[in-house]
Amino acid sequence: MEPKYKRVLLKIGGEALLGDRQYGISPQACTDVATQIKEVHDLGVQIGLVIGAGNIFRGISASKNGIERATADYMGMLATVMNALAMQDALEKIGAETRVQTAIEMRAVAESFIRRKAIRHMEKGRIVILAAGTGNPYVTTDSGASLRALELNCEIVLKATKVDGVYDKDPMEHPDAKRFKTMTYVDAVTNPDINVMDASGISLCMDNNMPIYVFNLFEPGNLKRAIMGEDIGTLVTAKG
Ligand code: UDP
Repeated sequence: MEPKYKRVLLKIGGEALLGDRQYGISPQACTDVATQIKEVHDLGVQIGLVIGAGNIFRGISASKNGIERATADYMGMLATVMNALAMQDALEKIGAETRVQTAIEMRAVAESFIRRKAIRHMEKGRIVILAAGTGNPYVTTDSGASLRALELNCEIVLKATKVDGVYDKDPMEHPDAKRFKTMTYVDAVTNPDINVMDASGISLCMDNNMPIYVFNLFEPGNLKRAIMGEDIGTLVTAKG
């Protein structure tokens, strides 16, 4: 069985690095995520990885507590760099070659994001960890994932969450909730009960026909299943 995709953009929320903590980075959780990533990387899949920072700092929450929104967002972007370094460490420890590129220049710790260089790294078999989102405030790393997926010519955005796809209602609260196998970008943006990713991230994909696959990364082996094309999540496209 061949992987369904040759080059993917994997978006991981910061909460994937929490493990059993309430805040910060669990080295064990990083290793668990890294193990899933290496498993698909070993199949020859080229991977760009965008990581959020919900485990450390979210601009919108901090701005509600009085920090100016743009400043808070920059702080959030810096937090994604910490997560990127943690994931780099975890991946390299298990033998995967990586590069961190950041949208906010930080020469002592990472390369700056340079599109053609990122593509070259992927072609050479390096996992490129894309830190600091888009480098701009007022959006989240979901928009960063869509943007990087497009400019790095990825075939799909794999959006890792803690539920296995998109449901008609919250499956944590409603046992009879039904999973959608597919859905349209329009439904994903307009239905207030559906939370695929932020609206700007979805609309960027919609305008450019970039498919999004929502799946549960907390189930070991699921990233590989998604890459192999198994029906474990929800595919968001124009047709639905
Ligand atoms: N952020 C930003 N611009 C970006 C990406 C991220 O301003 O392009 C900030 C924003 O404050 C966001 C925080 O970084 O809340 C952390 O990212 P995100 O909320 O996407 O993390 P996740 O929910 O994926 O863990």
